[in-house]
Amino acid sequence: MARVLVFGELGSKGLNSGVAKAVRCAMDLQPAALDVLCLVADESQEGIKQAARLQGVTKVLVRIHDAFAEPLAAVMGNALVEMAGDYTHILAANTTVGRDILPRVAARLGVQQISDIMRVESERVFDRPTYAGNAITTVEAPEGMVVVATVRTASYRAVPEEGDAVVEAQPFNVSPPSHTRFVERREAKGERPDLQTARKVVSGGRAVGSSENFQIIANLADRLGAAVGASRAAVDAGYAPNELQVGQTGKIIAPDLYVAIGISGAIQHLAGIKDAGTIVAINKDGEAPIFEIADLGLEGDLFKVIPELEKLLP
Ligand SMILES: Cc1cc2nc3c(=O)[nH]c(=O)nc-3n(C[C@H](O)[C@H](O)[C@H](O)COP(=O)(O)OP(=O)(O)OC[C@H]3O[C@@H](n4cnc5c(N)ncnc54)[C@H](O)[C@@H]3O)c2cc1C
Repeated sequence: MARVLVFGELGSKGLNSGVAKAVRCAMDLQPAALDVLCLVADESQEGIKQAARLQGVTKVLVRIHDAFAEPLAAVMGNALVEMAGDYTHILAANTTVGRDILPRVAARLGVQQISDIMRVESERVFDRPTYAGNAITTVEAPEGMVVVATVRTASYRAVPEEGDAVVEAQPFNVSPPSHTRFVERREAKGERPDLQTARKVVSGGRAVGSSENFQIIANLADRLGAAVGASRAAVDAGYAPNELQVGQTGKIIAPDLYVAIGISGAIQHLAGIKDAGTIVAINKDGEAPIFEIADLGLEGDLFKVIPELEKLLP
C-alpha cells in the first residue's frame, strides 16, 4: 500500500493552491497514509490549517526551524530526505518551488525524479507530457525505490477543503547546510490574481504593439477580474514583463476562461493553455491558427473590438 508524503508549500498567502491538486493526484494512489509536510519558521502559519482541511489528508506534519522562513531547496530538500524512509512516494506540485526542491531530494535519495505526473496508471506507472505536451509518455518507477515526483497542476482539480486531519508539530533539529543562504527576495506585487492559479486570464500578443497599449489588455483583465498573460513575442518586444509569459517556455496554466488577444496561436503558446476551459480568441486574421482551438472566436481589430466589448460589460 502506498504511503504518500506531499510537500505542503506555503507562501505569504497561505497554502499554495497547487498542494490541493497534488493531494488529488496522491489520492489516485489509494494511499494507506497521505501526509502533508509543512516546513515553517513559525507554527502560526495560516496555511497549516488549510492543509489540515484538505480532503483525503491523514496527517499534517509540521517541522519548525528558523531556516524554513524562505523556501530554499538546499534547506527544505534535507527535511524531505530525512523523512523519506517512512514513505513510498514523495510528491510536490510543479510550482517554481516544487520544481526546485524535488530534483535535489531525488538526487540525495539516488532515484530518478518523475516530472509532471498528469495521470496515475498504477502505484509505479504514470503518464507525463513530453515535447511541450505534444506527446504523452508512460513511465514506470523501479520497484523498491521511493517515487519522487512533481504533479502537473494543470491536470488536476483541487480537492475540497472538507477534511479535518491531525496536525503534528515538532522542532526540526537537523542543522541547515551552510553553503546556501537566503540573501534577498524580489517579487512582483499587485492586486491582480496570480497568473498561474487564476480562473480567468486575458493575454495579449505582438499585435498589442507597445507597453503603453498593453494597458488595454490589463484594463479588460481588471474588468473581468482576470489575471494578465502575454505571448512570448509580446514579452520579447518588452510590452509585458517576463513573468507573464504563457506557453512552453512560460507558464502552463489551466484557467476556466482564457482570452487570447492579438495572439496567432503558435504551438509553443498553445502548449501553455492545453488544459484551459473556454478559450476565446480575438484576431483580425480569420485564418489565424488560434481559431482552430478557440471555443469562441471574434475576427476583428483588437483596438476596435475591446472598447466595444468593454461597453457591454456591467
Ligand atoms: C523553443 C521555443 C519556445 C517558445 N515558447 C513560447 C512560449 O512559451 N509562449 C509563446 O507565446 N511563444 C513561444 N514561442 C514563440 C512562438 O513560436 C511564437 O513566435 C509566439 O507565440 C508568437 O506570438 P504572437 O502570437 O503574439 O505573435 P504573432 O505570431 O506575430 O501573432 C500576432 C497575431 O496578432 C494578429 N493581429 C495583428 N494585428 C491585430 C489587431 N490589430 N487586432 C487583432 N489581431 C491582430 C495577427 O493576425 C497575428 O495572428 C516559442 C518559440 C520557440 C522556438
